[in-house]
Amino acid sequence: MSEHIVKILEANFITHDVKRFLIEKPKGYTFMPGQGTDVSINQEEWKDKMRPFTFTGLNKWEHLELMVKIYPKSNGVTKQMGRLNAGDEIILHDVFGAIQYKGPGVFIAAGSGITPFLAILRELARNKQIGSNKLIYSNKTSEDIIAGAELSDMLKDNFINVLTRENVVGFLDKHITRDFIIEHIQDFSRPFYICGPDKFVSDMVKILVDLGAKMEALVIEH
Ligand SMILES: Cc1cc2nc3c(=O)[nH]c(=O)nc-3n(C[C@H](O)[C@H](O)[C@H](O)COP(=O)(O)OP(=O)(O)OC[C@H]3O[C@@H](n4cnc5c(N)ncnc54)[C@H](O)[C@@H]3O)c2cc1C
Repeated sequence: MSEHIVKILEANFITHDVKRFLIEKPKGYTFMPGQGTDVSINQEEWKDKMRPFTFTGLNKWEHLELMVKIYPKSNGVTKQMGRLNAGDEIILHDVFGAIQYKGPGVFIAAGSGITPFLAILRELARNKQIGSNKLIYSNKTSEDIIAGAELSDMLKDNFINVLTRENVVGFLDKHITRDFIIEHIQDFSRPFYICGPDKFVSDMVKILVDLGAKMEALVIEH
């Protein structure tokens, strides 16, 4: 397994609990949009604690970008990452990830599950290929939405926000249920990209397959 010690160049909170890191890119380090790596913190007691994160920037960028949801209640890696700033070091490992773009379809994300899709959509936008791709993005409240303005700019009317705990004008206040999917998706033969907590992913897979989506057209992280 490869190890790359890299410096954090910028670190700032982009929501109340999501921190964005701009990081040095090791020479020759490449990835596909949707992929990520195991990250650990280059401090004695944290070096061996690796956690997976997805690159949100593009391979062509000079630096790497991560967006990390911080869980302050557990004394884990993300809580410690919440304390890191420019100049601190992290360790990157081999690139991995099964989520890749397989053609126009529907992206369904919950919370920090947006990260692989942000990279894919940024790449599509850069190549002027956003086309009919649609994103359904579920969060607890509007304050939890990651990169909302950018996603809205890229996808226009094909960006559907679902808020499970808030009733705000302009946002749908409900869960992504079978009826919701029927209302918003007409074509079940296109690829579906799904990312979020395990239960969210398995619920979505069940609904979509039930409505006629083919298992091989579902793109999920295994
Ligand atoms: C392939 C892959 C890519 C990922 N990419 C990203 C990314 O780009 N950005 C990002 O913010 N996260 C991402 N994650 C999730 C991230 O790896 C975890 O949030 C992280 O490992 C938590 O580490 P910790 O040591 O702080 O938390 P732990 O101490 O392990 O857990 C802290 C608390 O958070 C809860 N928790 C941990 N992970 C999740 C989760 N995924 N969903 C809901 N609750 C959770 C736990 O139940 C626990 O209560 C990715 C996960 C995978 C598998």
